Amino acid sequence: MFEALASDPRVRQRRSGAPDPDGRCVVYWMQRAQRAADNAALDLAIEAGNTLRKPVVVFFGLHAFVERANLRHYRFLLEGLPELAEALERRGVGFVLRRFPEHRLLPFLDEVKPALVVGDENPLRQTEGWRRTIAAGLRVPLWTVDADVVVPSALLLKEQYAARTIRPRIHARLSEQLVTPKAPRAAVRWRAPRGLHRLRPSLALLDGFPCDRSVAPVSDFTGGRAEGRRRLRAFVRRRLDTYEADRNHPERDGTSGLSPYLHFGQLGPREVARAVQDAAGSHAGAAAFLEQLIVRRELAVNFVTFNPRYDSLDACEPWALHTLGRHARDRRPVLYTADQLEAAETHDPLWNAAQRQMVESGWMHGYVRMYWAKKILEWTRRPDEAFDLAVVLNDRYLLDGRDPNGYANIAWAIGGKHDRPWPERPVTGTIRWMSFASTSKKFDAKAYIERWSGRSEDPPLRTRARGQRLEAKGYP
Ligand code: FAD
Repeated sequence: MFEALASDPRVRQRRSGAPDPDGRCVVYWMQRAQRAADNAALDLAIEAGNTLRKPVVVFFGLHAFVERANLRHYRFLLEGLPELAEALERRGVGFVLRRFPEHRLLPFLDEVKPALVVGDENPLRQTEGWRRTIAAGLRVPLWTVDADVVVPSALLLKEQYAARTIRPRIHARLSEQLVTPKAPRAAVRWRAPRGLHRLRPSLALLDGFPCDRSVAPVSDFTGGRAEGRRRLRAFVRRRLDTYEADRNHPERDGTSGLSPYLHFGQLGPREVARAVQDAAGSHAGAAAFLEQLIVRRELAVNFVTFNPRYDSLDACEPWALHTLGRHARDRRPVLYTADQLEAAETHDPLWNAAQRQMVESGWMHGYVRMYWAKKILEWTRRPDEAFDLAVVLNDRYLLDGRDPNGYANIAWAIGGKHDRPWPERPVTGTIRWMSFASTSKKFDAKAYIERWSGRSEDPPLRTRARGQRLEAKGYP
């Protein structure tokens, strides 16, 4: 039974060996998959606990210095924790929340003496590094579970060249992987040892929390699984049918808006895919949506998993580096500083609108994200500088930032990753180019620009960005 759990392709034994028979519980060290349903890591921890006849407890350590995360992101994350604790309780699982400087896993493990530690997967460099460090410091086995993809990364074996190479591999696995999980309940209920330090999840935990406070929270998106499920239901009911036609129209509210919930693991990709499949009979947009949610999203996870330079131009293909190198000295049509770009002070109203949407709402429509990144390549001195700046802005302001999707798509827009050469032009070489004239003809750009151009009585974004920093400092 135990061997069967470990042989699942979602499971990676980071520290092998038999569970400690004297261990008192199974600990699930939750990081990425912040949910109590459709979570293969939680299911595995519970099944292991039931096999060993031990209780299960989730440990969540709120780290203050997650790379490129700021108050906007922490607030969204914390909004999801109270309902997470309640949902775990309903499955008979304990929840221990600690925050910096008491956020470390190993001291907690010393206190509760687990038989086995289960974690979830996150291929980003910093979080992958934590898993390795923990595996080296543990005396009991550590298994991590690839819970935030439909098809486990291990089954794709290596970095895939493009959507056309990963698509058949993913489709071949869908019927076996896109299943409804058993969602077991813990047979032995966890009881906190007397005096164990744990915090009640609440927004008050942000008081005095020493994270980066330079970006204020937003009101357009509220974090949490209930809100994510509500958005999913509304999308399936009202917008899935028109998704294919509307998804490239930033002026319409035609996409799901689920990316922040998927990024924080408050929703799992399998449950989103199943909700769409279940409704698919009557909804023409299902195939187009599943292509984005599964093929494109898992192409991004594959890129970050197998390409260690994922957040720099060096991650791109030789043809792209060659063409960008050949055009490195070309005269740029215009040059902007990082501050000008951040403050949406360019000559281009569409670009400025996209930048404002990102800064003000914490999200940017997918179609304009492409244009936004490609113009940064044109308007900065060097392609590597453009790449780095796009990453910084993307990760600082977007609630779904700091995600494989961001790195893969910036690499696509600026470095031709997963794309092919296009007709050659100055500056961008054979990297696919987007012009203001043709892009703004494909949708009602005027309506989008008007929506995000700010009212004339509003202070300019530069002043507001500074104001936001001050407000965020004093927050809450
Ligand atoms: P929907 O159209 O409703 O799609 C559903 C889900 O499919 C999304 O939530 C997302 O998880 C996935 N998806 C959609 N489009 C893509 C895509 N092109 N690549 C991979 N997965 C996709 N996405 C992020 O999650 N985080 C980022 O930081 C990010 N940065 C981007 C930067 C650039 C330059 C570009 C071009 C794209 C970026 N994307 C990023 C991908 C995409 O634009 C967003 O995922 C999408 O717009 C989110 O909106 P939605 O949830 O309404 O998408």
